[in-house]
Amino acid sequence: MNAPLQNAAQMDAQSAEQAELNSKQREKIAHENNKLHKRLCRQVGQAIGDFNMIEDGDKVMVCLSGGKDSYALLDILLTLRERAPIHFDIVAVNLDQKQPNFPAHILPAYLEKLGVAFHIENQDTYSIVKRLIPEGKTTCSLCSRLRRGILYRVANELGCNKIALGHHRDDILETFFLNMFFGGKLKGMPAKLQSDDGKHIVIRPMAYVKEEDSTRYAEVKQFPIIPCDLCGSQENLQRKQIKGLMREWEKKHPGRVESIFSALSTVVPSHLMDPNMFGFKDLKADGVASPLGDIAFDDEPCSTPTSMPGTIVLQNG
Ligand code: SF4
Repeated sequence: MNAPLQNAAQMDAQSAEQAELNSKQREKIAHENNKLHKRLCRQVGQAIGDFNMIEDGDKVMVCLSGGKDSYALLDILLTLRERAPIHFDIVAVNLDQKQPNFPAHILPAYLEKLGVAFHIENQDTYSIVKRLIPEGKTTCSLCSRLRRGILYRVANELGCNKIALGHHRDDILETFFLNMFFGGKLKGMPAKLQSDDGKHIVIRPMAYVKEEDSTRYAEVKQFPIIPCDLCGSQENLQRKQIKGLMREWEKKHPGRVESIFSALSTVVPSHLMDPNMFGFKDLKADGVASPLGDIAFDDEPCSTPTSMPGTIVLQNG
């Protein structure tokens, strides 16, 4: 074979090899994406089941902010509704708070294409917050209160008995640590609760979903994300610190965050310190041995050096 022909044959072989590599890569990505979708469906379905979040005949108002998590929530709920043995309705609701440069066309266009029932509520809470809160002070608490009141009213008007929010596992954990570190309370963000006005049940079907999965799902599905800093509010510094702490733990001690999350659903009031949760004052010895007593750390070495036989005595110096 002459040289030019040989070169051409080599180039053909190389491009065929590259094409095969690309196709393998695409297959791998598609496989990973499919696994992610299945995992989210499984975790959302599990949370719905564990907390009995959605029942036959419910009308669920899905709050859509335009952030990645609320898009993922709506998307997964629509998938699960198709497979569910019960009937429930979904209405997507967005509250347009009239923040500067809010791209009001994005959500209606997305929801129309999706073919889901939706409602856009226009309420200028931005101006109210700006008027009432002095420059430089945190605006989130008043803003959230106003938003909550409006969403409850809209749920009433739409006949929705359930209000679904897109908070995920990491939101729940961050809130738990914020309450513990800065609020002196052992309190998280419940997966299911009664609304403040007592008229609805608020649900968080994404409670078992990791934030990184929600982020990746939004990339895979190319949701038209609306930036969350349009109000000009700074990110909460304390929450940012907690996020950093959790990231660090996960890097240095994989599985720690998961363990803390599972601790939230395995509470032992008799081994905490709240007399309202456990009757410490009336506690009397009943003479019955408990095989599940205080054994959690029996395998741990005693941290205080003693001179008991068989223990190591620390020497000074
Ligand atoms: S970040 Fe902005 S829109 Fe969100 S709660 Fe705070 S003030 Fe309101």
